[in-house]
Amino acid sequence: MPEYIWDGETLPVPVEDIVDSVYGLLVRDVDDMSAAPGAPPASAGHLSGLLLTGPGEIWVDRAEGIKWPGRRRFTISHELGHHILHSTGGQPLFCRGTVIDEAPEVLAAVTKKRKPKVPLIETEADIFAASILMPSHLMKTQYERCDGEIERLMKDFKCSQKAITRRVLHVVPRDRRRPRRPA
Ligand SMILES: [Zn+2]
Repeated sequence: MPEYIWDGETLPVPVEDIVDSVYGLLVRDVDDMSAAPGAPPASAGHLSGLLLTGPGEIWVDRAEGIKWPGRRRFTISHELGHHILHSTGGQPLFCRGTVIDEAPEVLAAVTKKRKPKVPLIETEADIFAASILMPSHLMKTQYERCDGEIERLMKDFKCSQKAITRRVLHVVPRDRRRPRRPA
């Protein structure tokens, strides 16, 4: 990606700029997610995010985004993951809050299970989101720099505690990890 959008080092990763300037997708914070064309009825479950492949839009639930800005970044990144990995058929993708997991398992653990809890593409999008928001080389460096302080990492990466904690487990080698301190 062009250096002026992101230099690969500066935190937090400007995921909205990347979505917009690199992939040409419009991010919209909306009050009524069920207003999207083709969306399932609100009674089918709360939608956190969705990807409209036709017009090239990502919608995120406004109230959820205001309450949890880290979650909003994760949802946007999850939808970008769908755009890059899964949007081959031009179908819109609707993601309920329960399928966007900020602490995904590693893919091998998911594929080994006979019956995964959520469709595989949702876990793939979660892993994509964790990877773009918390690149492993930057997580390792920052982790050392702040002596494993989760609160500090949450600020640096602008991600939730849940997302940071899982990412640390996945990318920081066990023998480098600090004992967890109470928040
Ligand atoms: Zn999804």
